[in-house]
Amino acid sequence: MAKKQIIIVGGGFSGLKLAQTLEKIAVPRDDIEVTLVSRDNFLLFTPFLTETLAGMLDEGDVVSPLRAFLKKTRFIMGEVTAIDVKAKTVTYRRPLNDETETLQADHLILSLGSTSSFFGQTEIEKLAFTLKSLDDASLLRNHLMAALEQANEETDTTARQALLTVAVVGAGYTGVEAAGAIRDLMKDAARAYSQIRPDEIRVVLIDMAEKILPTIDASLAKYALRQLKKRGIEIRLGQKIENANENAITLSKGEIIPTRSLLWSAGVMPSPLTQMLDCRKDRRGAILVEPTMAIKEIPGVWAMGDCASIPNLLEEGRPYKGTAQNAEREAKKLARNVLAVLRGEEPQPFLFRSLGEFIVLGDHVAVAQIKWLRFSGFLAWFLWRTVYLVKIPHWSRKARVVSGWTLDLLFGRSSVETETPRLLRGHVLDRSTKS
Ligand SMILES: Cc1cc2nc3c(=O)[nH]c(=O)nc-3n(C[C@H](O)[C@H](O)[C@H](O)COP(=O)(O)OP(=O)(O)OC[C@H]3O[C@@H](n4cnc5c(N)ncnc54)[C@H](O)[C@@H]3O)c2cc1C
Repeated sequence: MAKKQIIIVGGGFSGLKLAQTLEKIAVPRDDIEVTLVSRDNFLLFTPFLTETLAGMLDEGDVVSPLRAFLKKTRFIMGEVTAIDVKAKTVTYRRPLNDETETLQADHLILSLGSTSSFFGQTEIEKLAFTLKSLDDASLLRNHLMAALEQANEETDTTARQALLTVAVVGAGYTGVEAAGAIRDLMKDAARAYSQIRPDEIRVVLIDMAEKILPTIDASLAKYALRQLKKRGIEIRLGQKIENANENAITLSKGEIIPTRSLLWSAGVMPSPLTQMLDCRKDRRGAILVEPTMAIKEIPGVWAMGDCASIPNLLEEGRPYKGTAQNAEREAKKLARNVLAVLRGEEPQPFLFRSLGEFIVLGDHVAVAQIKWLRFSGFLAWFLWRTVYLVKIPHWSRKARVVSGWTLDLLFGRSSVETETPRLLRGHVLDRSTKS
């Protein structure tokens, strides 16, 4: 009898966890074959991405090879270029040439993640950096280091200001964490430059909303705001970018901020491939699924993680938030649901209440909301490091992270520029030449 083909598209938090769970719970079955197709052969541990940006951890410390976790799953590294959800086929491009292959699934699971959304503001998109991938973090760090180098030699006051000012748009958790990390990186690195005073460095955090961190407890958000201000991060709320060019941005209340470094963290949308799928989506473009994560109108096709809109029955059907925490739990449930359907049983809804959130503000300070408990300051930061150290997969990564942190403690953070991402990818090259 031909084996049932389970194909997972996307090897991030949810895709990897699904494959691992299937390996665990479907062990005695030899009638199914699981294939995971993903662009990269590693899992990026995004909670530590700002640590890479800040020069606290090396790029290699925050990625784990997928093959180290997969013993029985067939892993294929390839860029998925087309998915026919009705026919359940997946077409991918091989890593080193333009040849494509097509796979046929009995059960197709989409876990393609998300990308930055600029809401159609193409001018900003061309100028801005983002913080979603390892390349993004390296590229921005390199750019900031190059800006310091140039500022050290620059005599024109406005040009100097633009080089030493970073604008971060979006005061959700990524924007807040990035603003803190950039401030720490720039202030520390600036000490090595004879012509730059640390107080010349400006980090400006901008958001259209009237408050920062809308998803956490109001008292913690206020604490975070006070901390950011105390550490010199300028806050502009209730404002958006009206105009942007390579040397400055203009805010909606008329303020002009000279800057050569614009980081956009004001919006995410499901992966571009998701937009092309022939199935129902919500207004963000996320795949609409049942609480079981099945696509109602296409039996055998499922979606989870950031690319899916999964109604949370514990919260009046509002969709689950796009977090790694949710993505991994969804994957575990989806694995059981696929096996249930293969046995001819009914799949069950995904029900989960968030355990909480950590937001790092820089300088060993964080806020944490864990169930009904609230923490702030050094204790929250210590908890954050401990919890995520436990969570980062594989002992080898844990050891690398601990040794990275220890070396930083002893010798300070790394503030050298590396060329790698400029050489790696075409789009990165385009962006870097603009800065
Ligand atoms: C800076 C940052 C910090 C974060 N911090 C936290 C945190 O502290 N806690 C938390 O819970 N969440 C955090 N998140 C959110 C978390 O990373 C996401 O919610 C989570 O990664 C979603 O998992 P996923 O499996 O849906 O997508 P992903 O983990 O993004 O995986 C998607 C996978 O699909 C692959 N893929 C996409 N398109 C293609 C294609 N065309 N072909 C082949 N492969 C493709 C990608 O390469 C990737 O491997 C953070 C995110 C960021 C950006």
